[in-house]
Amino acid sequence: MQTSPNPPQEQRLQGTPVSPGIALGTVRLVYRAFAVPFPRRIAPEDQAQEVARLERAVAATREQIETLQRRIASQAGTEHAEIFDAHLLVLEDRTILDEVLRRLRSEHLNVEHLYHEVMRRYMDSLRRIDDPYLRERVIDIEDVTHRMIRNLRGDGQAGVRRSGKHILVGYDLTPSDTAVLEPGEVLGFATEVGSPTSHTAIMARSMNIPAVVGLTGLRRQLQPGQEVLIDGMEGLVILNPSEPTRREYEEKQRERAELDHKLATLRDKPAETKDGRRYTLSANIEFNHELDLARESGAAGVGLYRTEFGFLNDPDAGEDVMAQIYTEAVQQLAPEAVIFRTLDVGGDKILPESQVADDPNPFLGWRGIRVSLQEPVAFRRQLRAILRAAAHGRVGIMFPMVSDIHEVREARRAVEACAAELEAEGVPVGRDLELGVMIEVPSAALCADVLAAEVDFFSIGTNDLVQYTLAVDRLNERVAHLYRATHPSVLQLMKLVVEAGHRHGIWVGVCGEMAGDLDLVPLMVGLGLDELSVAAGQLPRVKHAMRCLHYAQCSELVENALRCGDVDLIARMTHETARAAYPELY
Ligand code: PEP
Ligand code: MG
Repeated sequence: MQTSPNPPQEQRLQGTPVSPGIALGTVRLVYRAFAVPFPRRIAPEDQAQEVARLERAVAATREQIETLQRRIASQAGTEHAEIFDAHLLVLEDRTILDEVLRRLRSEHLNVEHLYHEVMRRYMDSLRRIDDPYLRERVIDIEDVTHRMIRNLRGDGQAGVRRSGKHILVGYDLTPSDTAVLEPGEVLGFATEVGSPTSHTAIMARSMNIPAVVGLTGLRRQLQPGQEVLIDGMEGLVILNPSEPTRREYEEKQRERAELDHKLATLRDKPAETKDGRRYTLSANIEFNHELDLARESGAAGVGLYRTEFGFLNDPDAGEDVMAQIYTEAVQQLAPEAVIFRTLDVGGDKILPESQVADDPNPFLGWRGIRVSLQEPVAFRRQLRAILRAAAHGRVGIMFPMVSDIHEVREARRAVEACAAELEAEGVPVGRDLELGVMIEVPSAALCADVLAAEVDFFSIGTNDLVQYTLAVDRLNERVAHLYRATHPSVLQLMKLVVEAGHRHGIWVGVCGEMAGDLDLVPLMVGLGLDELSVAAGQLPRVKHAMRCLHYAQCSELVENALRCGDVDLIARMTHETARAAYPELY
């Protein structure tokens, strides 16, 4: 009689929780277009097969490039198709292919890993040469590398589910990767790198998908198609969950669903404290498909529409396409307002082939309003699209990464010029839109009085305000322990901004992740803000939390926090206040 093999052992991996919830499903390993291919050992007897794989991939890539070349030649003329000659030269460059084969024989590693390594070194050396022609060539080489890796992976990934519901696992998911995800298909995320304020994490929360990041070496432990459980509260990824574990999580899932059901009854209730202070509680979104969830959660509008995600998804979208998308959002949310943030490219939101990608220090470099003001054609296209949408409902526009009043004035002039242009063309525009700035840079916070005199609102972007105030890269795991939202300097700046805004009679909100952090709701309430904008999935919990608190108690908490000036103590104080007021959310 045959005995059945032992079921695989359960294994728990600890990462950083970034989006709450529980998900059980099969793994889909997602290889970003240019993620480093995973090295795999190749036994000497399998080397011939690797060589054949490489040859097949070269042939398939050649065929794709030639097809593309023929199509472009017939649509746009042969001169436009010539670029692909360069691609073919790179593809068939014998020095490159020979080096891959030589390393296969000496290092016994899979060819996609080696091919990527060789191409990466090649591109790095070209990037270092101060010659614009050669730098341009990097884009061609990158393109060919992408194609080759995709073709090689096409061979190597049989068995990985490509559609249907799955748990997405990768080294990292860039905002442009997350931008093209099929909503509804992804049950959970797990990545090797990332942080709670990385845009992957933000997207996960927006889409209400459980996610865990910072799981170093995760892929080494996983088989494609394997079953895993994601615990987005504790930051666990459980491989081969045992029966008792499954039961335990089914129970937790049931409890969460019950709580969600209860909180859904708050949908039409105001976001107000027990002692009657009201707040506007709105949602952050990246795509229109999140509007349903925003409305279901009872959001009083969209406080932050991160328009750059649509851009990453479709960088060539023209004014009409954008106007249509924005108009749909405005109409779907009417009579509530939608606040569009103009493109915030830069930082971690980049297209691999864009100029921003070469910025040596992206978070301090060409980002947000800086890019828009230096790219007036693209800025104008977006502003015109927003102004056209504003003819259909209440709209706000806010500018990211503002560090100086001159940027605000220039941006306002651009809005006014676009509105005048559209009117002259006879195109209806919304005229009574609100113009605001995001307060994300300490210089903007410290000049809040000057800015407040010239705008209609402030929205504090704490994700960046924390990183710029504390000089801690929001994505860098090595300094993640220093990224502390409860740092007294951050609270001090926030208080200053609220007071300056109110002195000038404008409203002040927070749209950074601090607003949706249940531990920090007492501080948000106590700072005297007017608006909080949070991921739609978190909104009912935040509303419930607010309704369990007293404004008077929370403003005292803020005073005490600022007086004590100790980041840990402040974290403890707000946590204890939160836990005592709404233990059911913990
Ligand atoms: C922020 O910085 O807090 C913010 C909301 O903008 P983003 O996270 O998109 O940088
Ligand atoms: Mg920001």
